[in-house]
Amino acid sequence: MKKIAILGSTGSIGTQTLDIVREQKDIQITAMAAGNNIDLLEMQIREFKPKLAAVWTEEKARELKVRTADLDVRIVSGMEGLLEVSTEPEGEILVTAIVGMLGIRPTIAAIQAGKTIALANKETLVTAGHLIMPLAKKYQVPILPVDSEHSAIFQSLQGEAQNVIRKIILTASGGPFRGRTTEELKDIRMEDALKHPNWSMGRKITIDSSTLVNKGLEVMEAKWLFDVDLDQIQVTIHPQSVIHSAVEFEDGAVIAQLGTPDMRLPIQYALYYPKRRSLSGKHLDLFACGSLTFEKPDTKTFRGLALAFRAMEKGGNMPTVFNAANEKAVAMFLEEKIPYLAIPEIIEASMETIPFLEDPKVEEILETETAVYQYIESRW
Ligand code: NDP
Repeated sequence: MKKIAILGSTGSIGTQTLDIVREQKDIQITAMAAGNNIDLLEMQIREFKPKLAAVWTEEKARELKVRTADLDVRIVSGMEGLLEVSTEPEGEILVTAIVGMLGIRPTIAAIQAGKTIALANKETLVTAGHLIMPLAKKYQVPILPVDSEHSAIFQSLQGEAQNVIRKIILTASGGPFRGRTTEELKDIRMEDALKHPNWSMGRKITIDSSTLVNKGLEVMEAKWLFDVDLDQIQVTIHPQSVIHSAVEFEDGAVIAQLGTPDMRLPIQYALYYPKRRSLSGKHLDLFACGSLTFEKPDTKTFRGLALAFRAMEKGGNMPTVFNAANEKAVAMFLEEKIPYLAIPEIIEASMETIPFLEDPKVEEILETETAVYQYIESRW
């Protein structure tokens, strides 16, 4: 029996992780954490029987305690609760599937407790990669990517430890607005941006895919995970989302991973690495794919990607500014408080305003986040 804990069990990645647990039947859930959705969390506790479960607020924790009084489960709350779930002694793997920088502290605690990290929460590496990667090395803890592109790169690197990476080809679908002009993006509504052409994901990441900010975050994540320079990462628009990413080696050989757009595959690969397991669902049929096409990204129209490269080049707390500004802007767009094109505008203004810190510690990363939120609230 594999023993895993999940942060964000009620979300898109969390529920798909549980689908795998249901299908494979040899994984035990030791602990799980969610934010607010205690209806779903209660059902998950009844089905998967973890010994420990966390929700964010004390109020929800009290309610959940009453609802699960007939079960052998301890309910905890807040950041302390997330830390307990992450370091629960029996768990071997922690799936980090919560959204936002909230993931940093629990990931650090899990690494220090020797847990393998199945990393979905990209904000952790984006904002604190300079702390997380050396820490994982120190504790000899593997960080296994769950994001489909990074999993594809990771899969393409198997057996290649002695070889030199020339380039990482990070593919992107281009989102629902690929090919549009800035003028045509002006009146984009929330419903339009929430329709991703190929992948079914959470709301925030779906908006991020449409702005190419998600690809920008993935560039930063790839830089940390695979220890390459920024100019070795080539973002390539591939609208069919069949090639999930690739690696070019010194001799010009390009190794890629292909598949259907199904997050369960990279999640399962991380859970069972280095083994592969059978997985239900539709498998790739190359005859049905038709042509596979590739384009350069339009970074003039989709400025989020260019800003991400700029933030990562600058380093320090700038990726945090980029990420926090985007989080706030996307939340405001989803509340219909700002137009679509204000998202990159807000990111850029924040990057030009928030004081730069070269080597931020966790507290400074979180302070930067607060400073970005306050700045945006005061201006928009
Ligand atoms: P969702 O919004 O679907 O889920 C987020 C999860 O985090 C929910 O379980 C939510 O709980 C939980 N959560 C939110 N706030 C808190 C909190 N304060 N305390 C505890 N739990 C909390 O997000 P996704 O699953 O889409 O994404 C998760 C992460 O994975 C993100 O970092 C994303 O970038 C990354 N990712 C996602 C992919 C995808 O396909 N969805 C692909 C690759 C990476 P609740 O709902 O109960 O409030």
